Amino acid sequence: MVGGESAKGYAGKLISYGRQSIGDDDIQAVCDALKSDFLTQGPLVQEFEQKLADYCGARFAVAFSNGTAALHGAYFAAGLSEGDEFICPANTFAATSNAGVYLGGKPVFIDIELETGNIDASKIEEKITSKTKVITPVDFAGQPVDLDEIKSLAKAHNLLVIEDACHALGATYKGEKPGTLADMTVFSFHPIKSITTCEGGAVLTDNEEFAQKMQQFRTHGITKTDQWTSQMQFLGFNYRLSELHSALGISQLKKIDNFIQKRKKIAEKYNNELSTKLSLPLQKPDRTSAWHLYSVKVPKEKAPQKKQILQALMDKGIAAQVHYIPVYHHPFYEKNFPTPACENAEEHYSRVITLPIYTDLTEEDQSYVIETINSLISS
Ligand SMILES: *Cc1c(COP(=O)(O)O)cnc(C)c1O
Repeated sequence: MVGGESAKGYAGKLISYGRQSIGDDDIQAVCDALKSDFLTQGPLVQEFEQKLADYCGARFAVAFSNGTAALHGAYFAAGLSEGDEFICPANTFAATSNAGVYLGGKPVFIDIELETGNIDASKIEEKITSKTKVITPVDFAGQPVDLDEIKSLAKAHNLLVIEDACHALGATYKGEKPGTLADMTVFSFHPIKSITTCEGGAVLTDNEEFAQKMQQFRTHGITKTDQWTSQMQFLGFNYRLSELHSALGISQLKKIDNFIQKRKKIAEKYNNELSTKLSLPLQKPDRTSAWHLYSVKVPKEKAPQKKQILQALMDKGIAAQVHYIPVYHHPFYEKNFPTPACENAEEHYSRVITLPIYTDLTEEDQSYVIETINSLISS
């Protein structure tokens, strides 16, 4: 994931905070697809969609060329348009709000719970106005948000919920997987996510109308009345996922439970062995994480030295990361939208460090990461 040029540290390697797990079975699946009759718009994309829907227990899955395109499709299907407001957390990747801004929507950022990094559901209602259309919570680091609370707010105010579950494929909330819990659920298959298609994404829904709208949206807004007559009903995009990407997705999806199990084991080792000076991510009892990220917080008094700690890790061959700068601090957002006061998101950002977690991280490498961060935090 990260260029290794500057890596010295550890046996000449750079341990990234996240990366893909590709096996010979995946390589074979992609090669087979390459030799098939269709490279795009063939049977594999439908097979991938069906398997994703089955895995999550949803009626429909609509695949997209990436997770951001999938978010764009979901906001479009929700009817978000010029002047509408949508609610999302301050602590997320910019794509969560960017995709709503593509349609002229105005993002309203909500503060987070410091312990989980997830949106604070108790702070949503005060920000709902007559213009609000959608709530887009994000399952930060792979742990589902307080969906029951968010869904009952949405119901009371006649809003739709688009769950940005790009971190959370394979997680559970009260025994159910993200994919059916919200009106629409968005996944990404970027290399560091639960499974990868290189680039790719999908929206899962039980609503047939939303599914049809998104299928059309990802193919220019075109429908066919018969084999030779196409009609463009609205301005759509080319956001299709290819057959090669779908073949990789099908192959990866077979292994997802094993992937998540391994991530969970890594998280448990961190929970047990990291210095008690670090704040570890709180897990709520009625849900399980997909463990996309393992983010810790340095002590408050060490926050001013966080950059030095990140650099010291890098010098030792550990490419830790920061998730996330509050979205409203990106220059684009500062220029175009009001900057809210989100105290917890600010504190989170000042203290957060994401440590390596991925399926193929070896026990030996993880022990090295633990020793290194523990000694940096004690000094
Ligand atoms: C990865 C990610 C996305 C976007 O996914 P891409 O496939 O990279 O476009 C959106 N939201 C969140 C929270 C993500 O982590």
